[in-house]
Amino acid sequence: MLGPVILAASRSDRMRRLVSAAPVTKQVVDRFIPGETVDEIVPIIEDLTAQGLELTMDVVGEDITTPEQAAAARDAYLELIDRLKGLELGTRAEMSVKLSMFGQALEGGHELALANVRPVVEAAAAIGTTVTLDAEDHTTLDSMFAIHEELRKDFPQTGCVIQAYLFRTEADARRLAANGSRVRIVKGAYKEPASVAHQDKAEIDKAYVRIMRILMEGSGYPMIGSHDPRLISIAQELAARAGRKLDEYEFQMLYGIRGDEHLRLAAEGHRMRVYTAYGTDWYGYFMRRLAEKPANLRFFVRSMLTR
Ligand code: FAD
Repeated sequence: MLGPVILAASRSDRMRRLVSAAPVTKQVVDRFIPGETVDEIVPIIEDLTAQGLELTMDVVGEDITTPEQAAAARDAYLELIDRLKGLELGTRAEMSVKLSMFGQALEGGHELALANVRPVVEAAAAIGTTVTLDAEDHTTLDSMFAIHEELRKDFPQTGCVIQAYLFRTEADARRLAANGSRVRIVKGAYKEPASVAHQDKAEIDKAYVRIMRILMEGSGYPMIGSHDPRLISIAQELAARAGRKLDEYEFQMLYGIRGDEHLRLAAEGHRMRVYTAYGTDWYGYFMRRLAEKPANLRFFVRSMLTR
């Protein structure tokens, strides 16, 4: 029951101010968002890749309100890519972006988000890597998929995310699997109404398995974004049945969650990509991590009380 309440709070400015000002917040936030600046995140990138892990980098931020903020978000990614150039990691460090941070919700937002994301995709390609478009709430997805299609005309490796909880997703998966796209499948992290999304965990898991099967049997590159051990072993089974080799799909997990599992899968020869978020505008990202596991919230509250 707590999850939906926390997700509602993730959109509240009052809660944002309260949580951001709490003295112990940073210590808890660091578990999921291990840096605020490029200088802080580069050593983390070096450390994780030295352990055989691959990365997808997220500069945190979303729901911006001015075109200037959208341009600043674009520039933050360009700064990161510029620093990655020297590390020569290629696709071992790719980018994940949220189009709302690039201006998608502003007036003329579809064109603005495309104009801001394109230079990021170009810069990523210039250092031999790529970009994945994250999936946000369901109202943004038609625009996200259209931008994805447009970017793929010049940069076919551009990926996108689909969410198992949405009723529309099996059809999206079929289309993307047939056109050879890189696709990350996740359960879905936003508060969505029953008119568009499964609400029951078991139903979401069943949909996830159906969608994985579509992706594994298709011609694209499936990226399995989950920490759920049952889904991970089903993914391995489906991949084997579809005749995929270990480098023909990958697992992805979030920084700070089940780190032992990241290393175990990498040691087994899987491509294991860690979604690593950094930056100062961490509130929305942090609240979604709390909502996914109420124990995180208890830990957060206990740290505040015992301080
Ligand atoms: P769950 O059943 O939620 O979790 C399985 C187990 O993992 C739990 O029992 C617990 O042990 C552990 N776990 C899961 N979450 C947490 C947590 N927050 N803290 C501590 N332990 C936890 N969602 C979107 O809507 N759009 C996106 O673009 C998107 N991108 C993502 C990218 C990656 C790489 C990943 C891994 C997730 C992404 N998500 C995204 C979030 C996703 O939708 C789920 O909310 C999240 O992954 C939790 O679901 P799960 O599959 O891990 O399964």
